Amino acid sequence: MSDQAAETAMADALGLIATTPHLLVALDFDGTLSPTVDRPQEARALPDAQDAVLRLAAMPHTSVALVSGRSLESLAHVGQVPDSVLLVGSHGVEYRVDGASDVALTDDEKATRETIHRVLDEVAGSFENVHVEEKPAGFALHTRLANGDDTAAAERLAQERVASSTTGVTERSGKDVLEFSVRSATKGDAVRRLRSITGATAVLFAGDDVTDEDGFTALGAGDFGLKVGAGETAAAFRVDGPPEVAHLLDDLAELRAHLGRA
Ligand SMILES: [Mg+2]
Repeated sequence: MSDQAAETAMADALGLIATTPHLLVALDFDGTLSPTVDRPQEARALPDAQDAVLRLAAMPHTSVALVSGRSLESLAHVGQVPDSVLLVGSHGVEYRVDGASDVALTDDEKATRETIHRVLDEVAGSFENVHVEEKPAGFALHTRLANGDDTAAAERLAQERVASSTTGVTERSGKDVLEFSVRSATKGDAVRRLRSITGATAVLFAGDDVTDEDGFTALGAGDFGLKVGAGETAAAFRVDGPPEVAHLLDDLAELRAHLGRA
């Protein structure tokens, strides 16, 4: 497709999605609304992008969500959006809906999480300087202050006890930390759940990173996938960077306002 034809196809699709009865606009944050910065806590959406997000969020029959790999707390800090904007943190593990935070765990997952908690508390209690940290979908064993022998023994014991006590646990090992999680969610899970929460009849999802591809593959006919920047993608449309995302969101708000949906 020529550049001109691609642009026309994107404009047509945007015009179409603007008329959907209930629109969900789900947006990655870093690299999509915000340019990449050295200090993650200082990232902010471009002013034009923020304006468009707030305008869309205030429209009837229109939901806006930020969907990020950041923790919910970090996303709330940098996003600076009202409670009417849904937030999804940790790639779909944590949700803020109508201002209330929630980890979308099933009853089985909650029970497994409690088992992990109990087992790790027992393990940590048997060693010096080993601590348990609460995570949205699990618990982590911290050994930064422990000596090397205790670290190795505590981690091995935790692995054995968790494995023998329950199933369906994902283990993630980091520097001086061993995390056990009942959920390995993706942005695809987030898009599906947000579609269901909001009752959206069409979804626009935009993102710049590899993890956003799960979001694109959760889209169907009538949705709008927007890849930001270079790289392989399952998205139907592409723009160069955050300034172009801001422009497109502004166009979308304008179209939706004039097509009688707001
Ligand atoms: Mg990103």
